[in-house]
Amino acid sequence: MKDFVINKVKALKPSGIRRFFEMSKDVKDAIALSVGEPDFDTPWHISEEGVYSIEKGYTFYTSNAGLLELREEICSWLKRKYNVSYNSNEVIVTIGGSEAIDLAYRTCLEEGDEIIMTDPGYVSYEPCALLTGAKVVKYALEEEDEFKIKPEKLEKLITPKTKILLLNYPNNPTGGIMNEEDLRLIADICIKHDLLVVSDEIYSELTYEGKHCSIASLPHMKERTLLINGFSKAYSMTGWRLGYICGPENIISQMYKIHQYGIMCAPTSSQFAGLEALRNGDDDILMMKEEYLKRKNYIMSRLKEMNIPCYNPKGAFYCFLNISKFGYTSEQFALRLMKEAKVIIIPGTAFGERGEGFLRLSYAYSLDELKEALNRIEKFLKENNLI
Ligand code: PMP
Repeated sequence: MKDFVINKVKALKPSGIRRFFEMSKDVKDAIALSVGEPDFDTPWHISEEGVYSIEKGYTFYTSNAGLLELREEICSWLKRKYNVSYNSNEVIVTIGGSEAIDLAYRTCLEEGDEIIMTDPGYVSYEPCALLTGAKVVKYALEEEDEFKIKPEKLEKLITPKTKILLLNYPNNPTGGIMNEEDLRLIADICIKHDLLVVSDEIYSELTYEGKHCSIASLPHMKERTLLINGFSKAYSMTGWRLGYICGPENIISQMYKIHQYGIMCAPTSSQFAGLEALRNGDDDILMMKEEYLKRKNYIMSRLKEMNIPCYNPKGAFYCFLNISKFGYTSEQFALRLMKEAKVIIIPGTAFGERGEGFLRLSYAYSLDELKEALNRIEKFLKENNLI
């Protein structure tokens, strides 16, 4: 029989997070701090609207771009929160931020193009870009830069083929953020070199220091930005699979065709739930954010006691522990923690080569679980004379 699978797919590596997760299945009584998924139930008034929509018989397709009411609500939410102005023709409701990333790439990248993204970076960014045939160019994030993109360093990576700069702030896996001042410098470069920015702001509502700034809100940036956001993180709605992408109409109207033919529309009941989230979910976000902040502070104080250096994250729900001083690779250290301390934390290298020397700890877990995990880590370090 012929080999039916194309080379680009064969060349993709399986997700480093999943691989590590699979390995951990055999470890009994382990505590996992590995998943990037909120541990809260979806607030009931949001779920109820989803259920209610089914009861009312809304079990059919919506318009391909998503319910008009929802797109309009997304526009007013973005205006209210981040002062970016879109109209409903500039929005597509997607199956999570995940589909939005893929749509952005498939609409704007092809063989011969280059896209710049950070290393470390979220696991789907590179593989999805490679499927378009584009070349991926990595910007190496530095802890000493607080994991921000620095303009001088960025400019050195730009060639005549560079088309897209992918931004993800607040950042997974580092917890870094970029404020308005930082983003203005990046915006200037994007304008100078005529680049499109794909800005994945899925963690925007989980910003612990200052206010989140969307690069699309800066002068002359809306026309060269595809803004991605969603409901998974802010409203704890990962399983509803709901997100959106906004951008200039000339790009969105072309992108629409890929979404229309490939997806039809995002799940209808999820769209009704999303509408309720945007209208009445501000307090839920605040409640969850306060809880994440408590957890983050707790982890940071325990890490300090143990002398494990860690950048104080300003957004998302991850701590990026610097374990380089212990003399193990990230993978070796994470494996030892898994087997000996029964704590599962993802090696930084799952997010790219530059993640070497780091571990990503997700604090989307209860304070009790975090306490137990940190007790186990402390015991492990003491028993092995590592502290
Ligand atoms: N972007 C980033 C940075 C993420 O961490 C995630 C989820 N872990 C996503 C996008 C995708 O989220 P979803 O498809 O659930 O909206």
